[in-house]
Amino acid sequence: MLIDAHAHLDDEAFDADRGSVMQKIEEAGIMVINAGSDIETSEFSVELSQKHDFIYACIGIHPHEAAKAGGNYIETLRQMAECEKVVAIGEIGLDYHYDFCDRNAQKKVFLEQLELAKELDLPVVVHDREAHQDTLEILKKSGIKKGLMHCYSASLEMAEEFMKLGFYFSFGGTITFKNARRPKETASNLPLDRILLETDCPYLSPEPYRGKRNDPTKIKIIASALAGLRGLPVEDIKQATASNARSLFKLPQANNC
Ligand SMILES: [Zn+2]
Ligand SMILES: [Zn+2]
Repeated sequence: MLIDAHAHLDDEAFDADRGSVMQKIEEAGIMVINAGSDIETSEFSVELSQKHDFIYACIGIHPHEAAKAGGNYIETLRQMAECEKVVAIGEIGLDYHYDFCDRNAQKKVFLEQLELAKELDLPVVVHDREAHQDTLEILKKSGIKKGLMHCYSASLEMAEEFMKLGFYFSFGGTITFKNARRPKETASNLPLDRILLETDCPYLSPEPYRGKRNDPTKIKIIASALAGLRGLPVEDIKQATASNARSLFKLPQANNC
């Protein structure tokens, strides 16, 4: 069993053929944790999880969308989280690469959602792009105890700090890219019991599909890349990463979801 720990099947890139993409995922026996980015895509994520056994949902406001987090958005997320297929609050975090939203607004919305996750006893899925120090500080301040640093791009040293907070790390297409020295280094050296696999589809297609639309069936390529980096059989990688995803997101233990 392979588990794609971070995907956006709600994305408009799948509007034209979502049905057939879903069928291929099901045929390949892949389980997907689908992440929302705002209220609308979070609702879509929940709907997908209700339609398909092999999909679980995360709900949350992405830092790019922090300006949209008005009114009673926390209450809306709280109600959405009542669905049992909702397994985490995400994706949430900070993005200082694009800076689409004012940094103070990003921090405020991040912290408010961390507090919600704590209240609901759910893990969080964190997006941290070029904002490592602030991300770490806010996570510490929030007192959150479990979560996933998705598409992890900070250093191995910093990973130690996130691990102390009970965090896991997921790696995707970047570990197949030639020049991605840092993700390859962290993916090679972190304890295997802290690592998950993700596609972040429709983005970040692994080689040799770089630049094309990504989808969860390409998680196999990422599993093979990680197996190569760590010098382990791909079966060991599949088993360890699926077991890590099951324990972080409290997914059912059965092989068929
Ligand atoms: Zn992200
Ligand atoms: Zn994402």
